[in-house]
Amino acid sequence: MHRNTYTVTIKNKLHVLWRGLRLIQQKIPSLLPATVAGALLKSFSPFITIYLTARIIDELFGAKSVPRLTLLVSLAVSLNLIVFLLQKGMERIRDTGNYRLLYYGLIEMDQLILNTDYENVEKPDFHLKKQKIEEAFQVKYSGIWRLPDLADLLISNLGTVIFSIGLAFPLFTTFSSGNRSFFNSPWLAVLFLGFILLSATYSVVANTRFSKAVFRKMGDVPSVNRAFSFYGKMMQDYHRGKDIRIYQQQKLIDKAYKDFQRKSLQTFGIEMAKMQARFLGTNAAISSLISGFVYLFVGMKALVGLISIGSVVQYVGAISQFTSGFSELIKSSTDSWQNLDYVKLYFDFLDTPNPKYKGTLPVEKRSDNDYEIEFKNVSFRYPGSELYALKNLSLKMKIGQHLAVVGRNGSGKTTFIKLLCRLYDPQEGEILLNGINIKKYDYQEYLNLFSVVFQDFQLFAFSAGQNVAADIAYDRKRAIDCLNEAGVGSRIRKMPRGLDTPLYKIDADGVDISGGEAQKIAIARALYKNAPFIVLDEPTAALDPVAEFEIYSKFQEIVGNKTAIYISHRLSSCRFCDNILVFDKGEMIQSGSHDELIQDEKGQYYALWQAQAQYYKENNEQAFSS
Ligand code: ADP
Repeated sequence: MHRNTYTVTIKNKLHVLWRGLRLIQQKIPSLLPATVAGALLKSFSPFITIYLTARIIDELFGAKSVPRLTLLVSLAVSLNLIVFLLQKGMERIRDTGNYRLLYYGLIEMDQLILNTDYENVEKPDFHLKKQKIEEAFQVKYSGIWRLPDLADLLISNLGTVIFSIGLAFPLFTTFSSGNRSFFNSPWLAVLFLGFILLSATYSVVANTRFSKAVFRKMGDVPSVNRAFSFYGKMMQDYHRGKDIRIYQQQKLIDKAYKDFQRKSLQTFGIEMAKMQARFLGTNAAISSLISGFVYLFVGMKALVGLISIGSVVQYVGAISQFTSGFSELIKSSTDSWQNLDYVKLYFDFLDTPNPKYKGTLPVEKRSDNDYEIEFKNVSFRYPGSELYALKNLSLKMKIGQHLAVVGRNGSGKTTFIKLLCRLYDPQEGEILLNGINIKKYDYQEYLNLFSVVFQDFQLFAFSAGQNVAADIAYDRKRAIDCLNEAGVGSRIRKMPRGLDTPLYKIDADGVDISGGEAQKIAIARALYKNAPFIVLDEPTAALDPVAEFEIYSKFQEIVGNKTAIYISHRLSSCRFCDNILVFDKGEMIQSGSHDELIQDEKGQYYALWQAQAQYYKENNEQAFSS
């Protein structure tokens, strides 16, 4: 059983490795070949010097032939130069490749966030996964980005080990038949190999344990770093600057920031540094022991006349390359193995499933806007929530109808809109467009039916015109018309670059806009889309009374023959709608026209209406009495 899971883990990891390498090869084809070539050159280059120096020394102590010496020296110089230049060339290709990989990897994750089902975006887990990947990269430089570097280390160290064994091989295999000294015994070679194997086993075990501990610790890092980046962002965000100054919150923030810094250092930095020091210390001790042993062994062999002085240089050089290459090889193999866990996190994130069923039915384009929506016994709970946000909702939206939805906070009004736009699918019941379940339609085409101004609408730091058109190239006249209609045209015209002025101060020439102006631009965006359904969720919350009045008085004109859904706390603005739905705790408890609903003195609509009427009355009386 245990063995089985182990095999599965190995298989999974190899699959992740294969997928990672294939992805890099597809996206940046020059990166891996340059890495492999660079690694081979790197491992090969020291041996040119070691081998040729040995030959030069032998020549100096032996025949002393000048032409031969000249040949050897020029060979050493030119080979070194060629290898060096080739290596630098590969390094350059690798550096640009790695840079492209960095951005490719990050952009790929952002693309997923932009395109995945909305349901995923609202899950905190989803964002935590991404954060863990980014933090592993920042703190440990681990993940898909590290694959080329680890490939480089693995190949170059493996190369070093192979080349050094090749160069040191004769030391263990040539024995002089007449010499019976201990240094001529094959047993010494066996002992030597045994020693290396033992230290290798130790290194593998220690290194694996170390990297596993780091991977576990990484689990703690996101929470600490999240707090870090939260405070970091808070300091950058100039919108918060006002509150920070008025309430003199600098000290409070500074302390919290430092506390997190300390915690982060304790949970990750100090402990890790201790572990690393222990691990590296033992590794270094073992390496020096092996080196000492080698010097002794080679020196003794030379002393008893078994090998030449040149060969001493060759063997000592080769074996010291071997010991460092070998311990690095073990370190890079275990690091690579552990890094695959981080690569797996990356692919797991990219593989986040889309829960939504994707239909293919085209939505018929109709100039008469003859689209009818029906909710049939629709119930919905947010993922992970026990409570129904909407319960057993049934209603029909007729073409051109103006529908208002009212109700207290949290009664399910926005959820109703989210289901209508299929940002979520209901667990029970169904929503029909012209008699067909909306799941069956092509989602993009279905979305084309809706213009929505959400309560928490968002504009972007693009130009004003691009914000309205939600596109790079757009119809400027139409954008201006929509902005005029939403009552913000003159403000945009006064901006330094008119429609081309970037919103918000991210750009140097960006312009900050007020909440009310932003809301009007959001309304203009909804108008520009010109969809058959227009949904306004508290569309006037940020508007001043004059602007609000303007929007309301133009409401019929703005909405035209579209089907409109209108959510507002301001009941006086809903009274002109054909039908008013009253929501309470996820249920529709009343529906009808204003005149009908106001008759029911026990109903919630009456109570809500009275509460506001009362407020206005009191205000009026106060205004008159003062
Ligand atoms: P309203 O728009 O009427 O103020 P909502 O539709 O936003 O109400 O919310 C209805 C209920 O669903 C509330 O109890 C709210 O807390 C809950 N809710 C809203 N959004 C989410 C969400 N993403 N996850 C879990 N619960 C949510």
